[in-house]
Amino acid sequence: MQKQFQADNSQYRGRFAPSPSGPLHFGSLVAALGSFLHAKSQSGLWFVRIEDIDKPREQVGSVDDILDALVSFGMIWDQDLQTPDDNNYRGCAVQSKRLARYQQIFVQLQQQELLYTCYCTRKDIKQMGGNYLGHCRDKQHQFDGHAVRIKQTPGKAEFVDLLHGKVTVDDHLINEDYIVKRSDGLFAYQLVVVVDDIDQGITNVVRGADIMELTPRQISLFNLFEITPPAYLHLPLIINENRQKLSKQNKASAINCNNPKPELLKALSCLGLPINEESLLGSATVAEIIDWAIQNWDMNKVPAQLDILI
Ligand SMILES: [Zn+2]
Repeated sequence: MQKQFQADNSQYRGRFAPSPSGPLHFGSLVAALGSFLHAKSQSGLWFVRIEDIDKPREQVGSVDDILDALVSFGMIWDQDLQTPDDNNYRGCAVQSKRLARYQQIFVQLQQQELLYTCYCTRKDIKQMGGNYLGHCRDKQHQFDGHAVRIKQTPGKAEFVDLLHGKVTVDDHLINEDYIVKRSDGLFAYQLVVVVDDIDQGITNVVRGADIMELTPRQISLFNLFEITPPAYLHLPLIINENRQKLSKQNKASAINCNNPKPELLKALSCLGLPINEESLLGSATVAEIIDWAIQNWDMNKVPAQLDILI
């Protein structure tokens, strides 16, 4: 397959990729902080990418709320100079500005006969036993606006996570011809996240464990594009007393940007970096706490578990 990407992987390049469906809550603060500290402790670059591919879910104003919150909590992102200016907002790559790029990759995959249209509804798939097993692969349906799937090459249903070691997932997750363009015309997260990571030359992905199961699928796409996948580290998810991930849907409250210190200290504690020094607990500024955390970051102290109850 021809090279579709150019990547500069000579320096650590990490990213935090929030969806602007609401303000940052404590769970996303922990994810942002883990990816920031892991990058900065290795003198790496740390980018923020706005994952607003699913426009209908976007909440007006939340991009600025999220970016302002990161600043309040002492996490200053690097400008992504590899992404063209008109794809950026406040120095962050923005997915909704990159549709032409995704379409370009989509057309290339189409020309390589790796994509096909699927007419199956969710209900159809349920009736076929719950897993999509390539029903439309050889049906030669026109590209007429129905969902489009990729012909998946069976691969390894496992990968090595920096925190969890060897992670094995359900075979179906790697073998399924998954959707790359939805029937509503939106590109699927699975495709765009890999295109973005490659275009931004991301070397290390540090994110919440909720995406862990889909990582082998993303790695298979890197392999298809003949690009070395990044290293992956999945942080424990913050869950509430009902064992739900904190999210806008279950009404997780926004972090308090007017008084960031208590939540910053709590987030550090979740990441295995509790601060006991009186000097830091007392009058230290957010910037001083962040500096201390960069100096003291140790990935091996992060609890190697899938979730943390708060
Ligand atoms: Zn189908």
